[in-house]
Amino acid sequence: MNTEIIKIASLDEETVRNLERAAKIIKEGGLVVFPTETVYGLGADGTNASAAKKIYEAKGRPSDNPLIIHINSPDDAKRYTYTNETYDAIAKAFMPGPITVVMRAKDNVPSETRASLPTVAVRCPSNKIANKLIELAGVPIAAPSANLSGSPSPTKASHVIDDMMGRVDMIIDGGDCEFGLESTIVKIEDNGDLTLLRPGKITVEDLGKITKNVKIADAVTDKLKEGETVLSPGMKYRHYAPKAPVYLLDGEISKISDYIAKRAESSHVAVLCYTDDVEHIKACAPSAFIYEFGDKENELLQAHMLFDILRDADKKSFDEIYAPLPRKEGVGLALYNRMIRAAAYHIIRM
Ligand code: AMP
Ligand code: MG
Repeated sequence: MNTEIIKIASLDEETVRNLERAAKIIKEGGLVVFPTETVYGLGADGTNASAAKKIYEAKGRPSDNPLIIHINSPDDAKRYTYTNETYDAIAKAFMPGPITVVMRAKDNVPSETRASLPTVAVRCPSNKIANKLIELAGVPIAAPSANLSGSPSPTKASHVIDDMMGRVDMIIDGGDCEFGLESTIVKIEDNGDLTLLRPGKITVEDLGKITKNVKIADAVTDKLKEGETVLSPGMKYRHYAPKAPVYLLDGEISKISDYIAKRAESSHVAVLCYTDDVEHIKACAPSAFIYEFGDKENELLQAHMLFDILRDADKKSFDEIYAPLPRKEGVGLALYNRMIRAAAYHIIRM
């Protein structure tokens, strides 16, 4: 397949003409990669079963892992799902923005889009290019992250080009994604109960302002047990894991640097390192490759850099990758959720 790449910096007249062509591709059942404030999405008409199927093929995505449909106004959720007061409160507080809501689906959402589940995931992005594309397409755009299944979600156009050239009709290059981690996903039951399925920029603490009773699905922090069913199918797949094994280190920096120094004697080691610790690690383990990971407290910046670092690490063929264990509060929980998977749940406490 021939993939056209268009670059967009602002929403001028030429851009809108390009987006009209992108919208036409979507309406005709094709695939368009577009930027959002979280990660790049691989979009198709969410109401068209055969277009949705093409998404699974292009990504190599297992057919039981449902898609998120992207809408242009929070009210549009009512066309595709049975919303309730909890939805209205979440929409008012956080939409448009990096939150996805799973609710009981109406019959107009094909089972291919929702992987035969009775529910569907809906999101109203805040990225202006995404908004305009959805508006011009006139249909909800089903879009998972635009990576090959199993590799980190793409946060830069170059990531998308690496994974999706020749697999989609068009790639819209809108620069780096603002946040860089996938959306927060919550499930709303018919009675209004709320369960966090995937943490993101909208935190548990933020959700707690909407309702006191926010449950956190076990799969957010813990490894699934054999045979356990999972509320969000995506959580059961091996995700975000670079080729080299990743270990999360928990302890004082002096012990961490001694440990890394030892490992670096015989292995090609990479370290994700908070800015304040860079000099210390460099001094102890001069042969280790260091990815500066921002200030310890700046989890938004760490989230922004994480997937790019993991992709880069894959190109550099390290033997081992070490990273600090994130805390489980605030945006830290989203980092913890992604990094614990990248590390296949390996934590070294010292
Ligand atoms: P991605 O867009 O690639 O980040 O993946 C979408 C995520 O949303 C996956 O983890 C899916 O399992 C999850 N998801 C989509 N639809 C549903 C649904 N109806 N119920 C639960 N999780 C869902
Ligand atoms: Mg994904």
